[in-house]
Amino acid sequence: MSAENTNKKHELLLYAYSLLCDVTPKKYDCGMLCGSACCKENTAHGTDGESGMLLLPGEKELLCGTKDFKFVKSDEGELLVCDGSCVRELRPFACRMFPFYPHIETCGGRYIIKIKPDPRASVICPVFSDFRKRKTHAEFLRNAKKAVRTLLADDDIAKELCSQSDMISDIEKLRGMLLNGLR
Ligand code: SF4
Ligand code: SF4
Repeated sequence: MSAENTNKKHELLLYAYSLLCDVTPKKYDCGMLCGSACCKENTAHGTDGESGMLLLPGEKELLCGTKDFKFVKSDEGELLVCDGSCVRELRPFACRMFPFYPHIETCGGRYIIKIKPDPRASVICPVFSDFRKRKTHAEFLRNAKKAVRTLLADDDIAKELCSQSDMISDIEKLRGMLLNGLR
C-alpha cells in the first residue's frame, strides 16, 4: 500500500472514529448495563484459540503501537486481540459499531446501508434482550450510517465492509433458520 493510499485510509478512519467516539447505542455508557460484556466475551471471530475484532484495511497501521493490542491473521482477515480493556478513543471501528453492524447492498451503482443488530450480540448484549432497554439512540444510528458512507469512499475498505456485511448477514439467516426450526 502506498503512503498516499495509507494516509487517505487513515483520514477516513479517523473521521469515522470521531463520529462514533462519544455517541453510543444508549444515551449513557451501555457498558454500565452489563459490565462491558462484549469486551470480556471478545470472541466474535478467530480460530485456534485466538479471538478478536475484525479490522478494516488501514486500521492495523493506525492502531499498532497502541496499548496492548495484538494483531493476528485469521481465515476471516486481520484480527485485533485485546485484553478486555482499551483507550476508548483508540478502539477499532468494529467495537464502535457493536452491537450493530452495517448491512450493505448495492443497487444501480449506489450503496444502500442499513444499521442492523449484530446477530452475534444476541447472547451477550442487554441492548437487545431487555425490551425496556431496546430503544436505540437515534444519533448513534445516524452517525453510524454516516461513518460507513464515509469509509465506503475507499475501494479497499468498501470491499472489506461488503464482505463482512455478507458474512454477518449469513450468520443472521442461519440463526433465523435455526430458531424457526426450533419453533
Ligand atoms: S454488551 Fe452491549 S450493552 Fe454491553 S457494553 Fe457491549 S454493546 Fe454495550
Ligand atoms: S478493543 Fe476495547 S472496545 Fe474493543 S473489545 Fe477490546 S476492550 Fe472492548
